[in-house]
Amino acid sequence: MNSIVTRFAPSPTGNLHLGGIRTALLNYIIVQQAKKKLPNSKFYLRIEDTDKERSKEEYTKDILEGLNWLNINYDAKPQIQSSNIKRHQQIAKKLLENKKAFKCICSNEILDKKRELNKKNKISNKKLCETCENDDKIQSTQNNYTVRIKVPKDGENEFYDIIQGKISVNNKEIDNFILLRKDGTPTYMLSVVVDDFDMGINFIIRGDDHLNNVFRQNLIYKAMEWEIPKYAHIPLIHGNDGKKLSKRHGAISINNFRNNGYLKESIINNLILLGWSPNKNEKDEFIKIDEIIKSFDINKLSKSSSIFSYEKLNFFNNHYIKTMNDAKYLFEYCENNKNLDIFIKNDKDKFIKIFEVYKKNLNYYKELENIAKIYFANNNELNLNNEFKKFDHELIREFINFLDATTNWYIDNLKKEIDNFILIKKIKFSSLGIPIRNILINSSKGPGLHEIFYILGKKTSMERIKNYINKI
Ligand code: GLU
Repeated sequence: MNSIVTRFAPSPTGNLHLGGIRTALLNYIIVQQAKKKLPNSKFYLRIEDTDKERSKEEYTKDILEGLNWLNINYDAKPQIQSSNIKRHQQIAKKLLENKKAFKCICSNEILDKKRELNKKNKISNKKLCETCENDDKIQSTQNNYTVRIKVPKDGENEFYDIIQGKISVNNKEIDNFILLRKDGTPTYMLSVVVDDFDMGINFIIRGDDHLNNVFRQNLIYKAMEWEIPKYAHIPLIHGNDGKKLSKRHGAISINNFRNNGYLKESIINNLILLGWSPNKNEKDEFIKIDEIIKSFDINKLSKSSSIFSYEKLNFFNNHYIKTMNDAKYLFEYCENNKNLDIFIKNDKDKFIKIFEVYKKNLNYYKELENIAKIYFANNNELNLNNEFKKFDHELIREFINFLDATTNWYIDNLKKEIDNFILIKKIKFSSLGIPIRNILINSSKGPGLHEIFYILGKKTSMERIKNYINKI
């Protein structure tokens, strides 16, 4: 092999979700690795839009945007499968000519009856039509026929999958599936093989829900005397309840993750560790794309399905958010988040302070919307609930006078001042912390008092407390 050529072949019948991203990512990584030794290696994108009823332009857009955002870059322009239909038909014709396929005129009713009969008699005969193939008259009809593949009567159909190992099935178990429908349109099975061959694909990496298609697709390769590609069928991702990834588990558009403020680094980091781990320090789970390309080994990808969890993704995202040296990603994100962009336009410094204080616990940027609201509120509406009746109002007055004298409004100094006050007054932190936090940010929980004061600045902090004092 003087090059490795792979492809990602999504059908635009739904959004690009984590499962699809993982397949695309693995194809991309394998080719980046191969390019170092075999520079002609390629990773292609093919949009399989032959199911006209279910394919939608918006999904194609979603797929392209998602890959682009994650920097999963493919070579050349995306290929659109429907533009190749003539070629697929041509190959079906060739297979007929070479007697590797046959015409079938069975009606749906006849086929349904056969299915029912098989079911009733518990016969596992996979060949729904056994008559047309040997009928010369039918084979010379010109219209109204489907084209079916011819399957050898006996023998084993065997292949080796890099992840699943050696797999074989008896030809008896393979159906003589349709290549061309009555209306002349090609089926998925035919289009995939023809396109893969034409694009020079020699390594197919895709979800293991396609494993059963290999036996059928290999029949077409063999019938055409085309070289069969290498295969790696990757186990599907499941939710943490063990069930197939659904919307609830994160099978939502990758662009939703982006809109919520997940970073591409965390998505890639999370996905690559599903079923694989780098051979370095076990504890060090953080790995970026360059390092992945250096150390990933597809032969070591686990055969069993992997579990996706939001908890883990949040863990990675929090790590990348807080270790980012500058707020470049945050500002990029805010450009597309109107709610946050308003805050930045209003007071960028304050917004950065909020981010600096909160980032240690932030799962994703969108969480800043609710956090920032309270700091940017003009007339801070106080929750004068029962909690407030218990506050020591005299202590609050003393504290505010004490703090008013502070000129150095920096985070470390504020901490020192507050600690001092607590020491002098011989009080528990909570007797000051709870009321002041409530007064300043309407919540008993949150960052340190000094951090809240720092974000709000002296003027607003004092206003909020005085406003409260005036009310009681
Ligand atoms: N278009 C198929 C899908 O989205 C993938 C076909 C393939 O990878 O062979 O499931």
